[in-house]
Amino acid sequence: MTKRLKTKIGLLALQGSFREHIAILKKIGAKTVEVRLPEQLEGIDGLIIPGGESTTIGKLAVDFGLLEKLRAFGREKAIWGTCAGAIFLSKDSFQAAHRQQPLLELMDITVERNAFGRQIASFETDVEFPALREISPDETPFHAIFIRAPLIASVAGDAEILSTLPDGRIVAAQQGRLLATVFHPELTGDDRVHRYFLSLVE
Ligand code: GLN
Repeated sequence: MTKRLKTKIGLLALQGSFREHIAILKKIGAKTVEVRLPEQLEGIDGLIIPGGESTTIGKLAVDFGLLEKLRAFGREKAIWGTCAGAIFLSKDSFQAAHRQQPLLELMDITVERNAFGRQIASFETDVEFPALREISPDETPFHAIFIRAPLIASVAGDAEILSTLPDGRIVAAQQGRLLATVFHPELTGDDRVHRYFLSLVE
């Protein structure tokens, strides 16, 4: 007899809003593990990189010897980056043409940091996210919270656009098992993006 084990999701817990992801994952029945050291990546099925400050997350990942391990993990397993996490997953990020921060360079997306500027650095709006219909009959738009958010400036290779603002600016993308959202689904009561990520893991 085989026993079905729960999906185990790691949260990169160097900095940022990882606790909010853990709360939603527990609610939908996934097991969670906080990841700060390379060996903690062993035995997990997927990883979430939370929002926060991408330069800080990148520098700590270098200091903790995680960069190469995370790259190897992402070549085989699912990773979802929210906001700063989406920046860290990208091949290239820029802010006013300035580029300099450690990136995982796993996803063929270019990300513009702090793309909404300072005054209107945070806002909420509903976005269409058609892929969510694969896991839920609920067709209501997703209420997206943007906090000093980046934008996905371009997608290349096999990366696909999953969601845009009404004017076409890209706010979510996917490449195989890699998922990037520039908004924060962990701050809403809506667990559809978390369940979508679990479908990529399983
Ligand atoms: N502005 C942050 C950065 O550039 C991202 C903000 C967030 O994760 N909410 O890293």
